[in-house]
Amino acid sequence: MVQGNQQILTTCPYCGVGCGIAANQETENFATVKGDPDHPANFGKLCSKGSTVGQTLSKETRLLHPSINGLRATMDQAIHYVADQFKQIIQQHGPDAVAFYVSGQLLTEDYYVANKLMKGFIGSGNIDTNSRLCMSSAVVAYKRAFGEDAVPGSYNDLEMADLLILAGSNAAWCHPILFQRIKAAKIKNPNMKVVVIDPRETASCEIADLHLALKPGTDITLFNGLLAYLHQNQLTDSHYIDQYCDGFNQALKHALADSPNIETVASHCGIAPEKVTDFFHWFGATEKTVTCFSQGINQSHQGSDKGNAIINCHLATGRVGKPGATPFSLTGQPNAMGGREVGGLANQLAAHMEFHEQDIATVEDFWQAPNMTKGPGLKAVDLFQAIEQGKVKAVWIMGTNPIVSLPNTNQVARALKKAQLVVASDCVADTDTNSLAHVLLPATGWGEKNGTVTNSERRISRQHNLHKPSGEALSDWRILTQFAHEMGWSDQFNYEHPGDVFREHAALTQFNKGHKQFNIASLAHLSDDEYDRLPPTQWPIENNQGTERLFADGIFSTPNRKAQFIAVRDQGIANPTSQQWPLALNTGRVRDQWHTMTRTALAPPLNAHKPEPYVEINPETAAAYGITKDDYVAISSQWGEVTLKPDITSSIQPGQLFVPIHWNKQWAQSANIGLLVNPVTDPISGQPESKHTPCNIQPWQPDWCGFLLSRYELPLPQCHYASKILGQSFYRYELAGQFEPHNEHGKPWATLQQSLTQWGLSNLSDEQGAKLQLQTYQDPARNSYRYAWVDNQGIVACLYLGSNKAKSILEADRAWIASLFQQQEIGPLDRKALLSGRSPAGVEDCGRIVCACFGVGEKTIINAIKEHKLTDAAQVGKLLKAGTNCGSCVSEIKALI
Ligand code: SF4
Repeated sequence: MVQGNQQILTTCPYCGVGCGIAANQETENFATVKGDPDHPANFGKLCSKGSTVGQTLSKETRLLHPSINGLRATMDQAIHYVADQFKQIIQQHGPDAVAFYVSGQLLTEDYYVANKLMKGFIGSGNIDTNSRLCMSSAVVAYKRAFGEDAVPGSYNDLEMADLLILAGSNAAWCHPILFQRIKAAKIKNPNMKVVVIDPRETASCEIADLHLALKPGTDITLFNGLLAYLHQNQLTDSHYIDQYCDGFNQALKHALADSPNIETVASHCGIAPEKVTDFFHWFGATEKTVTCFSQGINQSHQGSDKGNAIINCHLATGRVGKPGATPFSLTGQPNAMGGREVGGLANQLAAHMEFHEQDIATVEDFWQAPNMTKGPGLKAVDLFQAIEQGKVKAVWIMGTNPIVSLPNTNQVARALKKAQLVVASDCVADTDTNSLAHVLLPATGWGEKNGTVTNSERRISRQHNLHKPSGEALSDWRILTQFAHEMGWSDQFNYEHPGDVFREHAALTQFNKGHKQFNIASLAHLSDDEYDRLPPTQWPIENNQGTERLFADGIFSTPNRKAQFIAVRDQGIANPTSQQWPLALNTGRVRDQWHTMTRTALAPPLNAHKPEPYVEINPETAAAYGITKDDYVAISSQWGEVTLKPDITSSIQPGQLFVPIHWNKQWAQSANIGLLVNPVTDPISGQPESKHTPCNIQPWQPDWCGFLLSRYELPLPQCHYASKILGQSFYRYELAGQFEPHNEHGKPWATLQQSLTQWGLSNLSDEQGAKLQLQTYQDPARNSYRYAWVDNQGIVACLYLGSNKAKSILEADRAWIASLFQQQEIGPLDRKALLSGRSPAGVEDCGRIVCACFGVGEKTIINAIKEHKLTDAAQVGKLLKAGTNCGSCVSEIKALI
């Protein structure tokens, strides 16, 4: 299984930066990884997520075998069954009654086969991807402006810029290595200015010369104001506009109507006029300007218009695809770009060709497709609505978890319960979505995948497998190929190797030649060996040479070769706040987790930074709602409710809330944020408005709270609040609940007793066959109960319970208790202190982990700052190493100083 201890070059499976990794498989479940020094995305660096990917290879959570309706099956049986069901449904209801819902986690080869199968052979456009949720608005913006979904610049441009704008992007946490490159460039170039445009003061503000904390949803007013300002101050490039663009006057007319002057912009966006002036002045005066935009722009009911409002300003100044001067969308997922290339969105055809008569005929001929679809299919949110309405009967979900990631996830769950057939191909066994699937198909995971991915700067890189697939897992392209054979299309799906798929994909792009930039036809003749050694290269690729920048000559991919200004107006928020729902809910990511945590939660260092699901709330708002730091809070919207812990911080403005999207049913009882999010979408891109949902908040008062640490993984208890955190050699469970109204004789812990039995803790000695010693402390008068189970290998589990906000629970030293799980023997001092929850004298409580790379805690940093009178993050790094690896925690260290 393990390929010796040979170094394999591959890529990181997380964000769209697409860092190169050099990996060594050490054991079946563990690989050491470091940054590939020769990869042009990261030059040897990795962030906290990338550096720990080798710790996520455990087989324990893997989906290893197929099943049909809960019964184990062989892969042949399962694929035959799926094909049979698809055939029946298509025969009865037509091809639009089936759908694929795929993922930016798939490799390009997987995507290509899925797209070809659905659009050319099943005969429907119903293939959409979770990339719809993160960058489909940017796709629309590029296509409208440039005639093609093509990012004009490269990462080097971000370093070359004199003005770098991060619009709706917390790159410090979401694209950490790119952020570190920008930070290093700023240190080298003292003239470089950074502007962060975000309602929140995020970690990216660490390097900001200017932070524009605009009101949610007002980006168009801001960028229309910039366009108007550039015009009013003769700062536009009229030659470029006349020579290379159309539509300027109409765009300007709209901009002037929305944003006639700085005062109007400042007042509408809620920013001080001086800050708006600075921003406009800097943009006007700085030739080398790059505007990076991401989810804060895209996830909006006007995401496409927001993207175009930004691009309009770059066109007006002729700053597109030039060194250090370009708009640049940051892609969320590792292969969202690859999906866009093959046509993996429901409204794309293939290889940057569209649903136009001639393109359809070209692709039909190339694929020798018997059932070529003639039009687009359903986009993600519409697709799941069509499933609930019974229009789509069967859905095949690949490598994604829509019951957590889509908006209005109650609706998504209803849809899947109603579907006649739900097939899920995944590398993880237990997900919220898989629990509703009729057929489960084990797919390869990172470390087993072999193919290509494309990062945010159009760079195609190889992802290589470190070892053979686990259990009966197969690559997605192979599963789909076998399915195609069962459907009767063996001749057109005769792939034996990922290189076969890649060569066909590359060959199709030749039909773009002459009018589209996306062309990798020169790779259509690679041998398997050459494919295997394909170096990271930016498309378009000719004679093995990549292309760093596009459109610098002013020639675009539109029919008349001119760029198009798009006239946009600010339409406000789709669902504004109201008396009933007075707060604006914003969603996003944390530094150390990825999507729905199916992988990152398996790496203990990544769970230490933000261990529990939480909501950021401004101190003013918290006070107005009677919320204190030790409370739990219930957040509700028209669509659902969750219970979280509050993080009271002035980094968020009054009246707004921010919640991370990651937690799911496997890791927390009541923290699926998708339950809250409104399902409003951009009418063109179909991207949901995940950055703004009207909601309400109130403290939730449990009767009891507590925590449990265990050597073994236990089922999440059924109490109202429960979250699970995997640490080094232990699982930690944070718990809170209410007494049951009809519990036995008023006993307060009836629920808990049930949970103890469910967890097997009440009879651990029987289960483990070992001699367990149970230490207990019970004080019913104060509702205080503590238990510790110890065997001859050390501590097995310990449970601490008390009334809500009991000091003994709030102040218990969880880090010290956790450290005991790494000891083979519990010394007498520790044993004595164990039930108190406090470390014995002389043992440091390091507090919440801030630096995941070196495991340095908040209290350790604060103590060092005080003791050594440290005044900057570099001094902290020198003393404690904190912040000296990936650098993602430096802004937090600065905040502590
Ligand atoms: Fe992986 Fe992104 Fe981190 Fe690079 S920056 S190591 S691609 S998560």
